[in-house]
Amino acid sequence: MHFGLTPEQEMIVSTVRSFVENEIYPHEAMVERSGQVPLELGEEIKRKVIDLGFYACNFPESVGGAGLSHLDITLVERELGRGSMALTHFFGRPQNILMACEGQQRERYLLPAVRGDKMDALAMTEPDAGSDVRGMKCTATADGKDWVLNGAKHFISGAEHADFFIVFAATGVDDTPHGPKKRITCFLVDRGHPGFEVREGYNSVSHKGYKNYVLYFDQCRLPAEAVLGKVHGGFDVMNEWLYATRLTVAAFSVGRARRCFDLALDYAATRKQFGQPIGKFQGVGFQIADMITEIDAADWMTLAGAWRLDQGLPANREIASAKLYASEMLGRVTDASLQIFGGMGLMDDFPIERFWRDARVERIWDGTSEIQRHIISRELLRALGA
Ligand SMILES: Cc1cc2nc3c(=O)[nH]c(=O)nc-3n(C[C@H](O)[C@H](O)[C@H](O)COP(=O)(O)OP(=O)(O)OC[C@H]3O[C@@H](n4cnc5c(N)ncnc54)[C@H](O)[C@@H]3O)c2cc1C
Repeated sequence: MHFGLTPEQEMIVSTVRSFVENEIYPHEAMVERSGQVPLELGEEIKRKVIDLGFYACNFPESVGGAGLSHLDITLVERELGRGSMALTHFFGRPQNILMACEGQQRERYLLPAVRGDKMDALAMTEPDAGSDVRGMKCTATADGKDWVLNGAKHFISGAEHADFFIVFAATGVDDTPHGPKKRITCFLVDRGHPGFEVREGYNSVSHKGYKNYVLYFDQCRLPAEAVLGKVHGGFDVMNEWLYATRLTVAAFSVGRARRCFDLALDYAATRKQFGQPIGKFQGVGFQIADMITEIDAADWMTLAGAWRLDQGLPANREIASAKLYASEMLGRVTDASLQIFGGMGLMDDFPIERFWRDARVERIWDGTSEIQRHIISRELLRALGA
């Protein structure tokens, strides 16, 4: 086993870290206060990332991406996790699922997304269908060669800047021994398409400026070419490509935890009470020891998940464990950091309160902690025939 990074990987880490420190950190307080990223700033970040050669770094060179390995991408995302999500959104990594594009879809969606000419958003969740994806009520009904979409999606991130949407809809029902099971199909829908509307969503305490939206489809007619993957094959494209988002959450959690920890460590070393740095009190020192131990553990789990993907090894259980542990670790680390800062931890003079708020969503999106536990235990039990 080799636990070190190659010189190229060291370079990736230092390049992305400098980018985040120089191009993201300076704008964070403004985004936090205003709750949005000015369009010009988003475009500027995007342009700089394209110049740096890191735009769509999660795509293979054959379609114009950077051709990085899963481990390399995880290193990039670990560094991005240090910065505001509203801003690092423009360090574009289009949804991997676009690799399922075929024929004209490649020219219309995949290649412009990789070049940075178009941005995408992914719409699965509905008001009545979150963890239970198959419970979705949004339908697409065949009408001649067309499909007609009706229904709504909510909590859709990045919709503000998206030029097109990857939308999942129910296209029928199968009778199975376990009861009726909805067939799901994935569609590509352009912003502004007749019958499709994007509206403001809810206000979230996590990730100010990284807004969520509600999508409405009312008799939205789509041609057959709008189907991504196969008709009724929505779950197949979902399973083939969406594993990466859980690894992204794990990597972001590790990066953010390290930034938060560094601030808490520095505060513990410099803040004095009772005539000595507070870190020298065992109650604080032991918290520091636990925090770094947990961060390292989450880091190794995340990198190991990415490494397994690169080796072509099964990684579903390992990635679910990494997402579960890293996102829960981030909650504990940000909470302990806030405690170390005392009252100042709650004030927006320091970014600690923001990290604490931002951490909360990581246990919810891209599959809640409970769903990750479900995936992990199901895989272990299935292997024993249970
Ligand atoms: C800020 C934000 C941005 C998001 N962005 C997107 C996006 O861009 N695109 C998108 O499609 N979705 C997005 N989501 C949706 C996100 O993935 C869902 O919120 C998540 O999957 C959980 O669904 P839910 O919120 O409906 O909770 P529910 O599924 O209603 O769950 C409620 C609670 O019940 C628990 N629960 C549910 N089922 C089980 C079970 N079988 N066993 C044990 N416990 C269970 C859950 O763990 C949770 O604690 C976003 C969400 C948020 C908050």
